[in-house]
Amino acid sequence: MNTIELTKSLISCPSVTPENAGVLDILEEELSNIGFECKRYNFSEKGTPDVDNLFAKFGSEEPHFCFGGHTDVVPIGEEGAWSNNPFEPTEKNGNLYGRGASDMKSAIAAFVCATKEFINNNKFKGSVSLLITNDEEGPAINGTKKVLEEIYKNGEKIDSCLVGEPTCPNKLGEMVKIGRRGSLMAKFNVFGKQGHVAYPEWTLNPIDSLTKIMNDIINLKLDEGSDDFPPSNIEIVKITSSDGATNVVPQNASGQLNIRYNVNHTAESLKNILNDIFKKHTEGTNYQIDIDYYESAEPFLTKKGRFTQIVKDSVDQITGMQAKLSTTGGTSDARFFKDYCEVAEFGLIGETAHQIDENVKIDDIEKLKDIYHTILKNYFS
Ligand SMILES: [Zn+2]
Repeated sequence: MNTIELTKSLISCPSVTPENAGVLDILEEELSNIGFECKRYNFSEKGTPDVDNLFAKFGSEEPHFCFGGHTDVVPIGEEGAWSNNPFEPTEKNGNLYGRGASDMKSAIAAFVCATKEFINNNKFKGSVSLLITNDEEGPAINGTKKVLEEIYKNGEKIDSCLVGEPTCPNKLGEMVKIGRRGSLMAKFNVFGKQGHVAYPEWTLNPIDSLTKIMNDIINLKLDEGSDDFPPSNIEIVKITSSDGATNVVPQNASGQLNIRYNVNHTAESLKNILNDIFKKHTEGTNYQIDIDYYESAEPFLTKKGRFTQIVKDSVDQITGMQAKLSTTGGTSDARFFKDYCEVAEFGLIGETAHQIDENVKIDDIEKLKDIYHTILKNYFS
């Protein structure tokens, strides 16, 4: 299959997380035909759905270049709002429509076809692999993280990884990602004493304490950012208090926040800053406070060097753009690869990812295949 045919056949599978709906079978067959050795990894964990994953490798020598991606897609939303069936890939005005067109089935097809072209036309020393999960948009527990653990147990070693997530805001070639911010969430609940608003001497209003805590948090300046990262940012996302009536002081009041942070911090250093604020307004008082933290990603930055330069130069060469090396945006499975090897991300325009009528330019898919092909050529030269 050529790149567009393969993209279409991947989109035709309704692989909403964790359903693989045959998408990995298509990929496995295509890769086996090129000469890849394919292995499927099915993982389960209590409380999460079972997930199928694919690791396919060509060659056994060093260096080992791995492409990271996911075949699962987010739900379609309201089906009637789509111009076409989201799982019937449709060409219109030079664009290809369908769920997963941008995020990120086209990129997988582009890499498979780029690799086929590269392998057929070049003798090279090294190996190329694809680590494809069907659990990136979901809990991401039975996906990339576990495949990496498993293949490393079996003696595998990856030198460089390119993740094919959509990285460009408006134009193909604008942005290569070489790191991501970390994400820390906190939930906290302040307990006071419920009572009649007319008798404040018999109550303890938790909202008094919570607003002081919130005020300190709002005024926090975590850092100035750096050449590679914007300043760390904290957003309060929720404030509530226990139900009552207009004449009742509530028993408790709670808040929730999310921090997107750069490499100037760790989850631990941020927790220390927050814990000091919580203590300041509750310790030595009759208030009680419960705090829960949830760490979903650590920040990372890939050292700029040969690999990041090859990715950027290949992008620039094919698109005529000057790609920016950036760390913006949300998290991706690059957060798991970074524990094993250097990792960069490049893919299509992400504007319509997760939206109704998700689509990409057909020309861009072809160009992306050429970019991936150029990256492989330069990497193994
Ligand atoms: Zn994605």
